[in-house]
Amino acid sequence: MLEDKNQERTALEQLGEFGLIDHLTQNFAISRKSTLKGIGDDAAVLDFKDKKTIVTTDMLIEGVHFDLSYMPLKHLGYKAVMANLSDVYAMNATATQIAVSVAVSNRFPLEALEELYAGIALACQIFKIDLIGGDTTSSTTGMLISITALGEADEAEIVYRSGAKPNDLLVVSGDIGGAYMGLQVLEREKEVFKVNPNTQPDLSPYSYIVERQLKPEARKDIVELLKKLEVQPTAMIDVSDGLSSEILHLCKNSAVGCNLFEEKIPLDPTVISACEEFKMDSTLVALSGGEDYELLFTIDQKDFDKIKGNPNMTIIGHMTEESEGAHLVTRGNTKIPLTAQGWNSFGKE
Ligand SMILES: [Mg+2]
Repeated sequence: MLEDKNQERTALEQLGEFGLIDHLTQNFAISRKSTLKGIGDDAAVLDFKDKKTIVTTDMLIEGVHFDLSYMPLKHLGYKAVMANLSDVYAMNATATQIAVSVAVSNRFPLEALEELYAGIALACQIFKIDLIGGDTTSSTTGMLISITALGEADEAEIVYRSGAKPNDLLVVSGDIGGAYMGLQVLEREKEVFKVNPNTQPDLSPYSYIVERQLKPEARKDIVELLKKLEVQPTAMIDVSDGLSSEILHLCKNSAVGCNLFEEKIPLDPTVISACEEFKMDSTLVALSGGEDYELLFTIDQKDFDKIKGNPNMTIIGHMTEESEGAHLVTRGNTKIPLTAQGWNSFGKE
């Protein structure tokens, strides 16, 4: 529905595989000292000296992870990079390079891939990442994107999911649930468009949540802020699924329990009003939505003063002994067991 129907179409066959890679990657510059050789040989060569190397990979499939009827290709390229960088930042590391592989059917002209790579290039530029390789190939149906991200960190800086202790504070960056409610708005407009293709949706009242869905930002700034504040999280994960499943990962990997306070969960006013409009429970949306790419971490109580009142992060709970389990403490002060789907409304443990 957001597609530009008048764009030019150059068939990919006209360039050939190597011509295509050269064309798509010609404007990517190398900015990292650790990149000794990027694109242009059989493999890239990296040198992280005395740092540890962080590696993560992620695959996105059209129709499963993204819908091109409302996802502009430039945004898709940007978001695909963000999803990977977010995992590097969740290790408290610096993201440094990416390799991008794309498979497309002949439905996509060269101009479509140029748009996708424009989004990837923008992400590389803003986050100071080098594109060091990848592959393009054909697919029988649809588009597939696989990205591998690399990063570096001193061994002592790396934060795992496993370091949380009872009484540690549970903290989340930014706000939660926006990407999921943005998706609800886009899905609804897609249905309206199917019935009447002449309507142009007015998304302006939803710009914040639609942007959270289409153009998320990995929280490099939070990793830098924590370093500046001299706070080393004890455990960390990024919020790519819902808040509750990420909390349960921290609990399981750290062998602790948790009390999450419903009233503390940071929600943007647009998320609250969209939840009212869609008759959805905003707490359930925050717990079970996804794709917010915020950072969820635990800190020692001695660091409380360093982050207290900081507008970029919110203390939403604290960790407990493992035997106490993981719970949501509601506004009515009832304790409900957390489940990966949000909460267990039947109260069974
Ligand atoms: Mg993750």
